[in-house]
Amino acid sequence: MTRRAVPAARARRVARVMKVIAREIAGLELPAVEKIAGGSRRNAFEVLVSTMLSAQTRDPVTAAASSRLFRAARTPPEMASLATKRIERLIYPVSFYRHKARHLKRTCALLAARFGGRVPGTMAELLTLPGVGRKTANLVLILSFGSRRNICVDTHVHRIANRLGWVATGTPDETEQALYEATSPRWWPYINLYLVTWGQNVCRPVYPRCAACAIRPLCAQAGVVDRSRRAGASPAAPARRRRPGRV
Ligand code: SF4
Repeated sequence: MTRRAVPAARARRVARVMKVIAREIAGLELPAVEKIAGGSRRNAFEVLVSTMLSAQTRDPVTAAASSRLFRAARTPPEMASLATKRIERLIYPVSFYRHKARHLKRTCALLAARFGGRVPGTMAELLTLPGVGRKTANLVLILSFGSRRNICVDTHVHRIANRLGWVATGTPDETEQALYEATSPRWWPYINLYLVTWGQNVCRPVYPRCAACAIRPLCAQAGVVDRSRRAGASPAAPARRRRPGRV
């Protein structure tokens, strides 16, 4: 599909935000799937499974569940051979663990039967797998196949892109499509890492730290009630832990 060029003023504004965030997140905790991918960038299966586990689940829980599951089974055929109840026990307490266990088992069986035990590398093929939506497929394509043509939109990216005023959308899928029009392709592979890290540390769903936010001069704060400013509070800077590997 041919995309229109991003207007120059918009492109400059997005670039300024992305550069500031790139600098600011150096030292912050990486999202769980990025950490797992950092140790296994070529292992699309681990990225796929951990991304499926991560939906509506806190990062430490996703990381621990992924680790337990991969100790029990490292390949699609091995994971497909596990009983659903065993998968449930291994991934508990991730959100919707029963649902995810069923999807994991069926996805692994399909990977073994249809794709030679490998994770496919196209959006169309990935979307045939049970429990795999555009968010998961985009992240697998970016992290494991090195795609520079995809944007992975989760709830953090959806929320922050709207608050920044880059898009005005109602769902993550709408946000993904709007971001292809609103941002330069150079940023597409990084939007998820940058905005998810920002969303976990600064632009949180509730009580975003606007008063301490380095991109505040560039942000429309659409739909945000800046409580820290109204209360005159001075929130602490986000805790710094370790350097991201992909900035
Ligand atoms: S200024 Fe507030 S709403 Fe805008 S990105 Fe920063 S924390 Fe989020």
